[in-house]
Amino acid sequence: MSLKKKIVLVFLFATLVPVVIGTIFVSKKTTTQVLKSREKVIDLADHDVKGLIKTVTDDVGIMLGVLSDIYLNKDDYLLEHGTKPNDESRRNHLIHHMSNFSSMNINTSEFILGIPGELPIYNVKYRTEAFRAGLPSDYNVVERPWYKGAIETDDVYISRPFIHARTKKPIVTLSLAIRKGEEIKGVLLSVLNFDSLSKKLGNYKIGDNGTFFIIDRNYDILLDGGKNSKNLSYISDIDLFSKHPASEHFEYNIETPDGVKFFHTSYIKELDLLLIGEVDLEDSFSNLYEMRNTLWSIIFITILTVGFALYLLVKSFNSSLNRVGLMIDNISSGNYNSEHHERIEASSEKNEFKFIADGMLKMNEKIIKREMDLRYIAETDPLTKIYNRRAIINFIEEEIELTNNSEKKYCLLMFDLDKFKRLNDTFGHLFGDEVLKGVTKVVADNIRTLDSLGRYGGEEFLLVLSNTKLEDGILIANRLIKLVENLTWKEDVVVTMSMGVIQGLPKDNLDTALARVDHLLYKAKDGGRNRVEAQKIR
Ligand code: GH3
Ligand code: MG
Ligand code: MG
Repeated sequence: MSLKKKIVLVFLFATLVPVVIGTIFVSKKTTTQVLKSREKVIDLADHDVKGLIKTVTDDVGIMLGVLSDIYLNKDDYLLEHGTKPNDESRRNHLIHHMSNFSSMNINTSEFILGIPGELPIYNVKYRTEAFRAGLPSDYNVVERPWYKGAIETDDVYISRPFIHARTKKPIVTLSLAIRKGEEIKGVLLSVLNFDSLSKKLGNYKIGDNGTFFIIDRNYDILLDGGKNSKNLSYISDIDLFSKHPASEHFEYNIETPDGVKFFHTSYIKELDLLLIGEVDLEDSFSNLYEMRNTLWSIIFITILTVGFALYLLVKSFNSSLNRVGLMIDNISSGNYNSEHHERIEASSEKNEFKFIADGMLKMNEKIIKREMDLRYIAETDPLTKIYNRRAIINFIEEEIELTNNSEKKYCLLMFDLDKFKRLNDTFGHLFGDEVLKGVTKVVADNIRTLDSLGRYGGEEFLLVLSNTKLEDGILIANRLIKLVENLTWKEDVVVTMSMGVIQGLPKDNLDTALARVDHLLYKAKDGGRNRVEAQKIR
């Protein structure tokens, strides 16, 4: 697998996997959190509303009980205060306490006493009169549901909640019969308002816009904690009450034209009402969505930046790698062109690859030096430091090739030291070596750099004069012979040489060229030595 693929895989595993796992984890966690907080609000509202209703009904029920006791058991008190205990004095005493009680509880402002055959009596006199004035002529307390309800039970009778005809507010009545043995002396009635409950309902909220409200069996909203008017048409088909009170709580997610709504219903047993918590599902999860969006943005930005950073990294890594690869490739394919490597080095950054590249360059330099050394050894005659036989033959072959393919002409000179054997014999080999070095040096110093001088063998040499006409070749040959002749050696020794000169011909090959020049060299020897024998100028 390529390095790039590996980096991409590492990126996937190092970034995406944790991000995806994290997202799933956070979403799950926040969903439960949202559900929990929704549950908490519902529980709180449920607990408070029911608690309040229970407290209020219990309180007022106790008040009614106390009032009944006052009617039945305060004869001694009346006697003590000089009042003869009879139905009327008892009733007046009761009305006095009804008045006191009504100011004690904010949830009820009214206590009413119903006596069979009489019109209802309020705790305040003017209210009694005003109330009576509005009643129909055939009004009879015993016909009233609260009266009937109370005499049918020993306990406090709680009516269905309903809207008060005058105040248009929801109310519920609590009534208790005053029983003396089997005889019913009257029925005490208290009217409960929901003012404090109404205030409380507005405090609870699910999500951003959720509300709580209370409905009766007719799906009429008795109390509404929210400000917006509700559209209950989409729950009117559901029999919300039938499931209660088997279980106290139910939840519904209902599709409406405004989106899915969440409903929570809780049964208020005392008053046969439903407390409903309602919220747009979207809204209930709004925090979650907000968080999810933030999370997605973070993830997106992270992936983008990490991806981009990695891309840059891979890119620089790749180009560095490519450069080093190119160097290795060049070196391994024998291309030690140092200029090329310098260019690669100049463009490489200061990083770990630079270290590798530097190492490669050093290796390259060493290889170049070794190669140069090897080539020098392979091409150089160790004694005279001029080209050896193999090298000079190569140059001649190159010139032959050039002559065959272009107009260029070369001259080939072959020279041999005269009577060298005798010199050796007379002065020793070491001196002979000195002479060989001295002669080659003076020749080498007096030719152009593009000319090539090589040792053909023993004290025979070949000189290639590139791009030279025969006439010039002959002049140079004569000049060289003179130079060598004029060299000074020990004991007035004079060293001379004989030379053959030819012009390279297109029809030549190595053998014919060498044979021709060799022939001329020996012609020079035969002709008396220390002279040049050249090919005829046509
Ligand atoms: P000629 O004028 O006909 O060329 O006579 P010559 O004596 O030079 O004849 P020949 O070519 O036969 O002799 C070559 C001698 O050169 C033989 C050999 O001892 C000597 N020689 C060859 N190579 C070297 C060398 O590397 N060093 C020394 N000192 N002598 C060498
Ligand atoms: Mg010789
Ligand atoms: Mg010889």
